[in-house]
Amino acid sequence: MTPYGTVSEESETPEASGDRSRSGFATMEATVNVNGVVTDGDQAVVSVFDHGFLYGDGVYETLRTYNRQPFLLDRHLARLRASADRLALEVPPTDADLETRIRETMRGVNPGGEVTVRMVVTRGVGELNYDPAACPQPTIVIIARPHSQIPDTLLRDGISVVVASVLRNHPRSVDPSIKSNNLLNNVLAMHEAIRQGAYEAILLNHRGELAECSQSNLFAVRDGVVVTPPLDAGLLEGVTRNFLFEVGVDIGVPVREAVLRPADLEQVDELFITSTTREVIPVVRVGTRPVGSGRPGPIASRLLTRFRDRARTLTRAPVAG
Ligand code: PMP
Repeated sequence: MTPYGTVSEESETPEASGDRSRSGFATMEATVNVNGVVTDGDQAVVSVFDHGFLYGDGVYETLRTYNRQPFLLDRHLARLRASADRLALEVPPTDADLETRIRETMRGVNPGGEVTVRMVVTRGVGELNYDPAACPQPTIVIIARPHSQIPDTLLRDGISVVVASVLRNHPRSVDPSIKSNNLLNNVLAMHEAIRQGAYEAILLNHRGELAECSQSNLFAVRDGVVVTPPLDAGLLEGVTRNFLFEVGVDIGVPVREAVLRPADLEQVDELFITSTTREVIPVVRVGTRPVGSGRPGPIASRLLTRFRDRARTLTRAPVAG
């Protein structure tokens, strides 16, 4: 565990509630849908012959609600399908069907509060070989859990990150633009961060440029301009990243793509990360070096405020006329 508690894509803080199994995993409040069948989290079962388990052969999405409405669901489903296409993995249900499944799974989870949803589509169950024909049916899992809000202390004090020695996958290896279940590279980078007491790990690409973090995208602020590595750097095109370009326009702050190198980290005024579950979190240290003033900066804070306003507005039920 880091000084920040358990750091994971879906849960930023240790859960207080729920039974702990022998592995120490809190089954906590979770509802799971496996191929259309909804059960409590601890009853949900996937075969050991599932190629997602055996080979990491599958894709996923993490989304969350505001006002208990899935936020930017269309963008998440589009990315899920784009990722699946890259693996020649079919996702037979329509978007409307997937949305129905998500809503059915979330029902009753964290009443009155927000929900985090992880959708996983794997190649499915089949013979132990790599032939896609071995698995006639994909496995579609939806996990709905209470959303854990980023603690305000992280926003007030900022986080530290490290530059991992593990490189982001080369785009001609497992392409980082595919949100695949094959996450070992990210896991290893995050292990480095955890060992050094940091919240996130920045990964460089094969050219030595900054790409992104293990579970989030990276942004820097220089002279009032916000920059983030281009897609060509080899990274996941974050839904939050893309939304931030729009939020920047809203508040009159330019947000652009630009190649960033490790040396740039010493010149920037602000640094921050973005993701669906983390929104915008300021970074105040890279390794042992402070970023800018060593305190969270004003631009990240303004972007976060506007981001949350837009998220709440977009998920507000339309007023019946
Ligand atoms: N990069 C990686 C490697 C990630 O795992 C995530 C989290 N899904 C992100 C970026 C941020 O993407 P999003 O804003 O869509 O959550």
